[in-house]
Amino acid sequence: MSKIEQFIQMIQSEFSDDRLTYQKGIPTFHLESAQEASEVIRLANEQNQSLYITGFGNNVSPEGVQFGEILTLRTDRLNRLHQVAPDDFYVTVGSGFPLRELNRCLEAENLFFPHATLPYVGSVGGAVAVGLTGELHKHDLPIKKYLIKAEIVTPEGEIITPGSICFKSVSGYDVVKLFAGSWGLLGLIISVTFRVMPSTGRDDFVSLSQKGISREATISALDDSNPDTDALYSRKIKNKFDPNLVLPLVL
Ligand SMILES: Cc1cc2nc3c(=O)[nH]c(=O)nc-3n(C[C@H](O)[C@H](O)[C@H](O)COP(=O)(O)OP(=O)(O)OC[C@H]3O[C@@H](n4cnc5c(N)ncnc54)[C@H](O)[C@@H]3O)c2cc1C
Repeated sequence: MSKIEQFIQMIQSEFSDDRLTYQKGIPTFHLESAQEASEVIRLANEQNQSLYITGFGNNVSPEGVQFGEILTLRTDRLNRLHQVAPDDFYVTVGSGFPLRELNRCLEAENLFFPHATLPYVGSVGGAVAVGLTGELHKHDLPIKKYLIKAEIVTPEGEIITPGSICFKSVSGYDVVKLFAGSWGLLGLIISVTFRVMPSTGRDDFVSLSQKGISREATISALDDSNPDTDALYSRKIKNKFDPNLVLPLVL
């Protein structure tokens, strides 16, 4: 029996049958949690077994002889939307969630995530791992900028959660950013937390030439009847930090 066959036997004795499939002939384990990933990766370390992490396989499709002796770990079942935090402007989502579907879930909370408007198919984890970057209305959009926290299973099987949902949480290097563009080589991304924007922030991605410079927008933000999120926060700041209206609106 070959090494990979022995490893598969071990995996099958530990986990239920429906977890292992043969995608294009390649043994593929469908993960359902960080704990499971940790167990499989620890076992692979003990048995000196190579693993390959795959999302939806759009960029790198595990197939062919070079993957024959490797167990592929697929994230397609890590596809839950864990948390949408409209007040704190972040979303936590499983790595197997389809990136393009994210805004459908955020819209209900008047939020949006710029990368989900781009025409790239693929999983959230895959997008982070390839360091997805694009351009929207001439603005560069590196996904790294929006990645603030992640749950990772390291190549030794340890579960870590680098990053923070708070800003300015680190004084040194922000380790979580390393996983944007890590190409499955630094660990398995289980879930990620992205900073998201209020729906009104879509305007930020309209180029200046289209948008022009609008003082009216600021004036309108201070009008109590304006329900936009930016307007709400503008008023909060204005009321808190300028109670004496030392900077009045001069028309
Ligand atoms: C039509 C089209 C246009 C595209 N245009 C662009 C473009 O302009 N700019 C751009 O940046 N990209 C572009 N891409 C690439 C796109 O970013 C990737 O195909 C997609 O985001 C990868 O997702 P996936 O789930 O298919 O990843 P996969 O192909 O499965 O994996 C890609 C890499 O990420 C690793 N990986 C996947 N999931 C994880 C995980 N959970 N943890 C750790 N590592 C993981 C894999 O090991 C692999 O190395 C385009 C793709 C398509 C199909």
